[in-house]
Amino acid sequence: MSVQVEKYKDILASLDSAVCLVAVSKTKPEADIQALYTLGQRDFGENYVQELVDKAAQLPTDIRWHFIGHLQSNKVKYIAPFVHLIHGVDSWKLLQEIDKQGRKVGRTLSVLLQMHIAQEETKFGLDQSELDEILAQIRKTPCSHVQVQGLMGMASFSSDTALIQAEFRSLKQQFDRVANLEIPGVAMQWLSMGMSSDYPLALAQGSNMVRIGSLLFGAR
Ligand SMILES: *Cc1c(COP(=O)(O)O)cnc(C)c1O
Repeated sequence: MSVQVEKYKDILASLDSAVCLVAVSKTKPEADIQALYTLGQRDFGENYVQELVDKAAQLPTDIRWHFIGHLQSNKVKYIAPFVHLIHGVDSWKLLQEIDKQGRKVGRTLSVLLQMHIAQEETKFGLDQSELDEILAQIRKTPCSHVQVQGLMGMASFSSDTALIQAEFRSLKQQFDRVANLEIPGVAMQWLSMGMSSDYPLALAQGSNMVRIGSLLFGAR
């Protein structure tokens, strides 16, 4: 089995109790998820809607499913009934669709706004002015079935520690800035940053939610 049980225990023991560990199980079989579930893990992250829907139907219902991929508006409806937290929201259009689907299923859906902090152009996310536009929209047209609970970001894929640190620091600064705005429906509770390769750097910059895949489940 590829699940790294000792590594899981080490990581868990190293985390402050206020930090949420999201075990990223994309492309991994249900048996691997079940193995960590048995050890007490409840937060799991998936990137693909169909895969998430299939796994959620097979696995225990008290798993908190995090959607961490890029979500297309037309697929929100499939995860709205059960998803715990949607990490990658980067447009007002998507936020409105999440609100609409939340209303349909009678749930208030929790989301994180995804910021673009990396050098690479391919990664999704908002810059500061786009973030401010969305926040202005939320002020103007409050969403009754969406709660913004924080920010998410991915650092550059790089061995340059100083660069990664600077990117995480900039995301933490945005997080603190938005928290001070005190916008109804926007609570800066979760700062989702850090993956297998960089989570210690993210924690040092104030992350309280890390998304770790390959360290727990082996390489994909
Ligand atoms: C795959 C993925 C992760 C986990 O990556 P690892 O390097 O395997 O830890 C974290 N966040 C996002 C958004 C991902 O797509």
